[in-house]
Amino acid sequence: MKSAIISVGTELLMGQIVDTNAVYLSTELRSLGIDVNYRYTVGDNDARLREILDLALKDVDLIITIGGLGPTEDDMTKETVCDYFGEKLVMSKKVKTDLIRHAAAHSYTLTENVYKQAMVPENGTVFYNGAGMAPGIAVEKDGKTAVMLPGPPRELKTMFNDSVRDYLKKFSGGSIYYKVIKIFGRGESSVETDLLDLIDTQTDPTIATYAKEGECTVRVASKRATVEEAEAAVMPVVNEIVRREGDHVYSIDDEELMDVVGKKLEADRISISCCESCTGGMFAEYLTTVPGISDVFERGIVTYTYRAKEEELGVDHDTLQICTAVAPEVAQQMAEGLYKKTGSDVCISVTGIAGPSGAMPGKPVGLAYIGCAYKGETTVTKVLARNLSRQWNRRYFTLAMFDIVNRKLDGRKIPESY
Ligand code: ATP
Repeated sequence: MKSAIISVGTELLMGQIVDTNAVYLSTELRSLGIDVNYRYTVGDNDARLREILDLALKDVDLIITIGGLGPTEDDMTKETVCDYFGEKLVMSKKVKTDLIRHAAAHSYTLTENVYKQAMVPENGTVFYNGAGMAPGIAVEKDGKTAVMLPGPPRELKTMFNDSVRDYLKKFSGGSIYYKVIKIFGRGESSVETDLLDLIDTQTDPTIATYAKEGECTVRVASKRATVEEAEAAVMPVVNEIVRREGDHVYSIDDEELMDVVGKKLEADRISISCCESCTGGMFAEYLTTVPGISDVFERGIVTYTYRAKEEELGVDHDTLQICTAVAPEVAQQMAEGLYKKTGSDVCISVTGIAGPSGAMPGKPVGLAYIGCAYKGETTVTKVLARNLSRQWNRRYFTLAMFDIVNRKLDGRKIPESY
């Protein structure tokens, strides 16, 4: 099946937002075995959207629109596309009730224009919005299908995962099986180089690599007559990639690093505490996204100043004066001080330079040291982030902390540096 993605929104044309939704959808459609032949971007304008529909539907049988489903005047995708497909819009009691419930749950008053979102085509499919208000819609006519999805990325992804993927399976002409391999500590270009021969010869299974803020993801997908056949085609390729990337692979099931770590801590009831300088609590924040973590997470302390490191963790005053805060000795004393204070099974520390200022001779922005006290031994690991931004560095340091804990829990070697 050939398809086209139509992103609707003047903000996109003006360069005010980046079309991350289209990238997401392209990837998802590909793994469903649906070809994306075109991607269009058009402003919030009825006539121009109709022109694009004419153009796209000449060549493809499935179009997917993004955005313009909301309550405001300029949101016109549903009205235009449904009219184009000859579909009359009627008020859906079910969607209206959903809207009222959503408003009550989020404590806001509904304005009259919100009910515009409850108008649905008489003969269409409605996709519930599990992360917002505007429902998604699908209409079909004369062998052509239009699927309309909301613009906010969280809403679009939630809806896609909840129901749209299943709806689209009928267009894929086969059964899909895929695995998503997650890698930390190797960049996308290194991973691509490692897998070049596999990628170059791929037809089915397909192999796609993506970089995501310090991590790399490899998706291996196959479309065959049955899921079993597709799985049998995918797994040898997954095993080969895992063999090549070895220790850097932390999941083949599309998990987040903090979830992998959190589950291991919970399963073996291993307690953990953290003390953070440059990440300002990001490790604790990520860890607490894991459901049930309260059983094992003892405490997180943000020790930003020298004084905080001394008072909270007992870091030696002279060490700080001589070595400065960004030093292996300090990371070690922080982790050990945290252990003295909490007695947690895993005590992890971080001290570094998030930037953009703060570099010192021999200590560039992006440098951090991570201490980890576990089973009577403290290791200190040097991290050098790519310094793409302050936020990037902080996230990279945080992921490195999780990777270190993950390795310790598995009894695997910690790299000398990241
Ligand atoms: P709403 O219910 O918020 O009105 P909508 O379906 O009408 O949703 P839009 O109004 O077009 O969607 O966009 C809402 C917001 O979603 C935009 O301001 C932007 O932040 C984000 N957004 C829209 N389209 C895209 C896109 N293609 N890629 C990434 N973000 C997008």
